[in-house]
Amino acid sequence: MAARILDGTKIAADIRAEVSAHVKELGSAGIRPGLAVVLVGHNPASEVYVRGKVKSSAEVGLYSEQHTPAETATTEELLALIADLNRRDEVDGILVQLPLPAHVDAKKVLLAVDPAKDVDGFHPMNVGYLSTQRPGLVPCTPAGVMEILKRSGIAVAGQDAVVIGRSDIVGKPVAMLLLNENSTVTVCHSKTRDLPEVCRRAEILVAAIGRAGMVTRDFVKPGATVIDVGINRIADRAEFDRLFAGNKKREEAFLAKGSTLVGDVHPEVAEVAGAITPVPGGVGPLTIAMLMANTVKAAMLRRGVGHPKLTRA
Ligand code: NAD
Repeated sequence: MAARILDGTKIAADIRAEVSAHVKELGSAGIRPGLAVVLVGHNPASEVYVRGKVKSSAEVGLYSEQHTPAETATTEELLALIADLNRRDEVDGILVQLPLPAHVDAKKVLLAVDPAKDVDGFHPMNVGYLSTQRPGLVPCTPAGVMEILKRSGIAVAGQDAVVIGRSDIVGKPVAMLLLNENSTVTVCHSKTRDLPEVCRRAEILVAAIGRAGMVTRDFVKPGATVIDVGINRIADRAEFDRLFAGNKKREEAFLAKGSTLVGDVHPEVAEVAGAITPVPGGVGPLTIAMLMANTVKAAMLRRGVGHPKLTRA
């Protein structure tokens, strides 16, 4: 039987509507949460992401501003900008779009962001809050993975979960969130032995690898929930055929554009999994929705205003 498709676009829209209602409520109390986005230089992919973040901020009613230092900006100049944003009261969230140019000390810049305004949840203080189950700001994509599971009614507590990938941005925080929700978690990576066998134990399998269609049917226990975080653009015809042979609709789009987006999970997995997130339209849309939620959460945490839903760790 074909897997149930977990519709990330719909879940993200629901979250944005909730955030928007919350922003309205705060507005009547004289609070307008604000997001500052810092985009250094002219990385085309980063420009697309930042446009999406600024557009979404306007749609949910957040105040937002964009800072675009030149590619040649020094670490010191960026630290001065961050210090200014840390100080300004109308800025609740600060997002430094990665990657930063190679000559910039990215770790130093990220460490300078006030943890209370760190809406990406990358500051070691927030990483510590997450691992000790204190209220804090949780990285957006991992938080989005948890929202998909919760809002789709998929049990997490007591389940065997396997996360492939151990990056600071996705793999590790997803694993920590699943552990905090009482899953039995295994984290796999490029040195894991017998990867398909380890993955076959999973009732929840999260792929955050960055390798197109690597997770094939032999990785998946029948009926498992598969969350595909990967976003890979493929332009190679042979690779397209390995993944999408016989899919006329995809083929038309591929030929028209010369490339297509694919996750880390092979499409054939939909024949064995119980539920699966598509790419595109799965985890991707959640990232911006959770950034919006995090900005509101930061505004509330900083003002000591509690909210039962948004302030949970
Ligand atoms: P990363 O390169 O930092 O980490 C990849 C991880 O996969 C590493 O821990 C590595 O050990 C593991 N890995 C690599 N090859 C492996 C192999 N052959 N077997 C087992 N493990 C292997 O990547 P990342 O930043 O964590 O991103 C992962 C994927 O998620 C990418 O495709 C990225 O584009 C995507 N992503 C999506 C969103 C979103 O909004 N949906 C956000 C962030 C990242």
